[in-house]
Amino acid sequence: MTNNKTYFVANWKMHGSLNSVNSIKNVIKLSKKSKYKNAKIVYCPPYTLISHFVEKTKKTKIDIGAQNCHFKKKFGSFTGSVNANMIKNIGSKFVIIGHSEIRSIGDTNKSINLKIKSALKANLKVIFCFGETLKEKRSKKTNKVLNYQIKNGLTKIGNIKNIFFAYEPVWSIGTGIIPKINELDKQVRKIKQIIRKNYKVNNAKVLYGGSVNSQNIVTLKKISSINGFLIGGASLNSKNFIDIIKKTIN
Ligand code: PEP
Repeated sequence: MTNNKTYFVANWKMHGSLNSVNSIKNVIKLSKKSKYKNAKIVYCPPYTLISHFVEKTKKTKIDIGAQNCHFKKKFGSFTGSVNANMIKNIGSKFVIIGHSEIRSIGDTNKSINLKIKSALKANLKVIFCFGETLKEKRSKKTNKVLNYQIKNGLTKIGNIKNIFFAYEPVWSIGTGIIPKINELDKQVRKIKQIIRKNYKVNNAKVLYGGSVNSQNIVTLKKISSINGFLIGGASLNSKNFIDIIKKTIN
């Protein structure tokens, strides 16, 4: 890991009820200890719980994010949708955009680009997800795919300072399989190189996501190019999430 802030983003996906809000109390306690001052924790619960998480975490350094947004920034007739301004309005600071589970039901590089633009306009920080499928990996297309997703997702976006890049190999999400450590390090460095070349930014934050848990974190944290983790399943249980943070920061 780098010596700067390490990001721990909890993606709760379609999990959580009102009772779950209280389950993060030990994470809040941990976040207040000076030993963990460099652990930047972001919870992304479902829309239904965002206000409750905002309330629960006020007066802490924990930030709250949404898991997606509509690309339109104004109110409109889009049943079932929530836009970036609405997310900002209820106290979220972040939004995840481009997650493979949403790409798989129709999100395209074009819609992702529009969503990122509207989220930045709403003053949200964006966790921009991208990653290759197993088929693409097996046919050695990873670099081409990542390059394409990053460039198209960021078309005509000049300022990327509020964008966090989340490399999430699709074949790793929810499978228990993580990339080989040296390959992951190489891939993250490549991603930083793409960002440097295209956006002239040297200090972009790149997170890794895909089956991070309290065992494999011991190995993953050794990868110095990574700035943090996007954590799905293992973030639902506070004890597991705390273990991950403690083992990374010790
Ligand atoms: C994710 O979906 O963003 C993710 C990283 O999931 P998991 O940790 O469960 O693989």
